Amino acid sequence: MFLGHYAVGLAAKKAVPKVSLGTLFLAGQLIDLLWPVFLLLGLEHVRIDPGNTAVTPLDFYDYPITHSLVGAVLWSCGLGLAYFLLMKQKRAAAVVGLVVFSHWILDLITHRPDLSVGLGGSTYFGLGLWNSVGGTLLAEFGLFAAGIILYTRTTVAKDRIGSIGFWSLIGILALIYVGNITGPPPPSASIIAVAGNASWLFVLWAYWVDRHREVKPSASQTYSEIFVA
Ligand SMILES: [Zn+2]
Repeated sequence: MFLGHYAVGLAAKKAVPKVSLGTLFLAGQLIDLLWPVFLLLGLEHVRIDPGNTAVTPLDFYDYPITHSLVGAVLWSCGLGLAYFLLMKQKRAAAVVGLVVFSHWILDLITHRPDLSVGLGGSTYFGLGLWNSVGGTLLAEFGLFAAGIILYTRTTVAKDRIGSIGFWSLIGILALIYVGNITGPPPPSASIIAVAGNASWLFVLWAYWVDRHREVKPSASQTYSEIFVA
């Protein structure tokens, strides 16, 4: 999944309006941000396999450090704890951790059975939504639209960067996704490992635009009500 992970970050803003969209994007994509790093280190592996599923030409045959259930739980606790130590906000830290873990759930729905429980083992899980192009597009764009609605209901642009910058980010993400789906398979696994690191750009972009938006009074009121409750 691609857009769906960003969608969770956008949607989570409603639950924790004081947390930057950059942090929420970092959380939603943490596992996929670490994956190219482990590929480059030679600790995880992927191969090009056109037709692996209807949607992706990639065979994720070895990536338990980032994408096993145990790995996902540890990365979730790790980023949640780091957020708590830095910001001292328990509830926000818990939401950040949950957003990290949402990545594994969404991958479980989309991937063919290639997700393991632990580092070893031979049992793999995946519900295989990627076998259906229509179902995948519906899920990706449906989640993305819901995330955008929740984020824009929670925040409002303070200036042009907050509006044009935000909508450009949304447009680029959608274009990259369409390009990935319709384009040819990547030429090699090492190109995936290098190009994958470009995703950090979207985290930085989200930090930037989020600083140029503010929480709508109605949204922060909801937040304080939740917080007091
Ligand atoms: Zn993933």
